[in-house]
Amino acid sequence: MAGACMVRALAIRGQQAKAQGRSTQTPAPQIVAFEAADQPATGASGNPVGIVHPFVSKDWNLASQFMQQGVQTTLRWVQELGGEHHSPDPWAGLIGVLQLAEDQSEAQAWQDLPARLSDSQSLSFHTAALAWLTPAQIQERLGLPDAPIGGLWSEQGGWIKPAELIRACLNEAKSLLGDHLTVHFNHPIQPEDLPQLQKDFDAVVICTAHDALLPWAGLRINKIAGQVSWIQHPLLEELPWPKAVVCRSGYLSPVIDGQVLVGATFDRDPSNTDPSSLKPTTQAHAENLQRVAEISPKLAQTLEPLWRAPESSATQQPSPATPAGLCGRVAIRHASHDRMPLIGQVISQQALTTGLPRSASQLHHLPREDKLYVMGGLGSRGLSIAPLAAERLAAQIISAPSRDALAQPLLDAVDPARFVLRAHRRAG
Ligand SMILES: Cc1cc2nc3c(=O)[nH]c(=O)nc-3n(C[C@H](O)[C@H](O)[C@H](O)COP(=O)(O)OP(=O)(O)OC[C@H]3O[C@@H](n4cnc5c(N)ncnc54)[C@H](O)[C@@H]3O)c2cc1C
Repeated sequence: MAGACMVRALAIRGQQAKAQGRSTQTPAPQIVAFEAADQPATGASGNPVGIVHPFVSKDWNLASQFMQQGVQTTLRWVQELGGEHHSPDPWAGLIGVLQLAEDQSEAQAWQDLPARLSDSQSLSFHTAALAWLTPAQIQERLGLPDAPIGGLWSEQGGWIKPAELIRACLNEAKSLLGDHLTVHFNHPIQPEDLPQLQKDFDAVVICTAHDALLPWAGLRINKIAGQVSWIQHPLLEELPWPKAVVCRSGYLSPVIDGQVLVGATFDRDPSNTDPSSLKPTTQAHAENLQRVAEISPKLAQTLEPLWRAPESSATQQPSPATPAGLCGRVAIRHASHDRMPLIGQVISQQALTTGLPRSASQLHHLPREDKLYVMGGLGSRGLSIAPLAAERLAAQIISAPSRDALAQPLLDAVDPARFVLRAHRRAG
């Protein structure tokens, strides 16, 4: 997802800069992408459905503000790429998301939020198009029968099929650039390849999710395994199922192509992180059914007999294109220590080796690696982050104005050198 979004953003910005005669680089942008796998979307981005929605913290913090801008950018991309109207099957449904409150204190905090925020934050909160819904309103509008407390309804959100978003990004970039875009599959990059790539290209963006290519850069990325479960059953079309995505500790989708998807388990200390041998487990399916029960005991009851149906697909990694019965997919999320993504120019390896200047106390004091950028650690929110991150990096690389320019505090919050700076400050 990160790589494909990067390719699309670079293709568009490069073409715009060329059309406006602003590019000081090659006459037309030339993009080469290297992917280790034999096709797109085999990593975390290969789940059949993912959700996109605002992150509402009690104080509308930087993470909320960043995700808010990210969600808006993603929704714009889906519209530009025609995801909701794709024929024969739409690959996105931007019909809103309901976030159920965990308890009364969270419900109160969410309802009080606009009044507690400063003007600019409040504006951002309101532009998230959020509305508090009571249990009765939830039943009436979404068909969810037993919400205990109420929840926040966000118009800006919905579901997306990530692999289709990725294909659409690559297809559009190809149609814009033709021979100026090359995607090499089965082509893993090794850390020792980077210096040559930095010589050969105007910019190199690492979009591998993890930090194995930049072990020296202090990115501090953790691996978190997760399983989604989905079920296809003729009965689902007849059930009173919610008409939009509903989240609490987990999430469930509306009925999409006769299927519903539930996510996702969260294993912070996975024993296996090799993507090629990850397999769904019945234990994780049970945990996901429990997530449905936390959203609605009635829905979980309805689903349970279908969930238990003996299907061999339940413990195999099926192709999302041919699901049947109860299916699951396991993948690894890569998340930074503070759960914000890593977006920007990488810190200088040489400066780290020889020692950072003692006076360096701000991110802009830190020397950077020539032409080397990263978009990684997207964690559980790749769909809300990747398009915004790609536009930001493309604007930085091509020196074009960015449509959804990020405020400096948000750029600092995702700067890939932030953990190094924090350690440097602590060391005094
Ligand atoms: C169970 C689960 C549920 C999720 N649900 C949601 C959701 O509902 N909404 C949401 O927004 N997000 C969700 N996520 C998170 C989302 O999937 C990720 O944030 C996103 O897919 C990350 O995209 P990525 O491109 O950074 O990583 P990946 O999709 O993992 O892609 C990394 C790519 O880099 C390639 N690569 C790795 N090393 C090299 C190398 N050395 N050389 C060349 N290529 C290399 C890999 O082959 C892979 O194709 C979920 C994740 C999981 C696991």
